[in-house]
Amino acid sequence: MIVYDLECRGARHRFEGWFKSSDDFVRQQQGGLLCCPQCGTGDVSKALQAPRLARKGNQRSDPVPSSRAVSKPEPHPVAPRETPVASAPLPPQAVELIRKLAKMQSEALKDSRYVGKSFVDDARAMHYGEREAEVIHGEASVEQAQELIEEGIAVAPLPFAVVPPEQAN
Ligand SMILES: [Zn+2]
Repeated sequence: MIVYDLECRGARHRFEGWFKSSDDFVRQQQGGLLCCPQCGTGDVSKALQAPRLARKGNQRSDPVPSSRAVSKPEPHPVAPRETPVASAPLPPQAVELIRKLAKMQSEALKDSRYVGKSFVDDARAMHYGEREAEVIHGEASVEQAQELIEEGIAVAPLPFAVVPPEQAN
């Protein structure tokens, strides 16, 4: 019996193969009978002569070839926070209309208190009677708004961004 260090050509996995003779090795290799125990490829050849005899003491061993990179789970896609833009200005009537709509929104919110990011907590607390009910508006992610709706808490998306009072002049 002879022992060869073998290596698959794709991933360079190393393993030993035992053969009756060097002819036996050639026969098995050419017959496609050899396969890598780690990845199963039949594309196997003799490894360049063994570093293993020299590997001793404080020498660093070869890095273990990772049989396969574990694919990381895709990060949860984050909804893009983008402003729609156009390369041409809107006709003046449209601009005027939008201004009116924005004004209507702010009129509608006149008696509403801006609570910013605590909207979700506040809306929930009011729904469950943990605090006094009032009309509030603020910010929530689409997911948060969805959760509120699923809990039976009424929320309505606002068509226009709201300027927090501390930023408004
Ligand atoms: Zn392999």
